[in-house]
Amino acid sequence: MFPLLEAKNLACGYQQSPVFSHVNLSLYPGQLAGLVGPSGSGKTTLIKALLGLVKPWAGEVCIQQQRLQAGQTPFKMGYVPQVETVDWNFPVTAEEVVMMGRYRKQRFFPFPSKRDRTIARELLRRVGVEHVAKRSIGELSGGQQQRVFLARALVGEPDIVLLDEPTSSSDLHIQHELLHLLAELNAQGLTILLSTHDLNSVATHLPWVICFNHGIVAQGDPMDVFTPSTLAETFGGSMVVNHDGDRIMIAGSMTSVRHQMKTNLPAVLR
Ligand code: ADP
Ligand code: MG
Repeated sequence: MFPLLEAKNLACGYQQSPVFSHVNLSLYPGQLAGLVGPSGSGKTTLIKALLGLVKPWAGEVCIQQQRLQAGQTPFKMGYVPQVETVDWNFPVTAEEVVMMGRYRKQRFFPFPSKRDRTIARELLRRVGVEHVAKRSIGELSGGQQQRVFLARALVGEPDIVLLDEPTSSSDLHIQHELLHLLAELNAQGLTILLSTHDLNSVATHLPWVICFNHGIVAQGDPMDVFTPSTLAETFGGSMVVNHDGDRIMIAGSMTSVRHQMKTNLPAVLR
């Protein structure tokens, strides 16, 4: 099987400051992977480079073995940006935001067809925010905005979706619901990469994690990868890792807060 998305010896930075270098990463069709690292470690930069939104200093990104050209937004990739980085002061409704993701499919752009509207509505329902379809995007909660953006990413019928910190602005219950939804989409064949700085409530429930801190520290099944030494290298400080059957609980050695699962996750996230 060939990778859907690859970073080959990738280096990125801003002005004179490097963020990471020598990043080699392959995402295969059907993967659900988490990019895990502390704030400022370069997760957003890597995601943007994979999307062609940040120009690499060196190396290349390949999509289905084709080299991504600078500035080119690939056809079959969906992107859910970090909500904190979006300017919400533009006067569009949630439904219109979703429709924007469909412009490549619209025959009579900028006029959406009845079918375009039906598909947008169906996706808003699927991600659980149909009731806010007519509300202005700026009025919604962070979690709702994120879902609208997920619907916008899905409406273009992508092969792969990259989500930047999709769980950062919502409470545990909403986070688990979103993870459920992503697992469901993944089970239907969608390849997903999501970034998170949250170890316990997100990362330990993913089937594949990539520990990132200005470069890849380790990757694999969280049961194998989340060792005290890898976590210390990724997040700094010392970490306590508790294995409890097929669950992992991680705490800084100064804290001992244990995260308990509140909902039953599908097998893929357990
Ligand atoms: P993360 O998503 O893991 O928090 P980022 O990729 O956002 O990390 O940031 C990595 C580093 O790059 C940080 O030091 C950040 O300050 C810097 N950085 C991010 N975006 C820019 C930018 N547009 N211009 C200059 N520096 C940036
Ligand atoms: Mg970020």
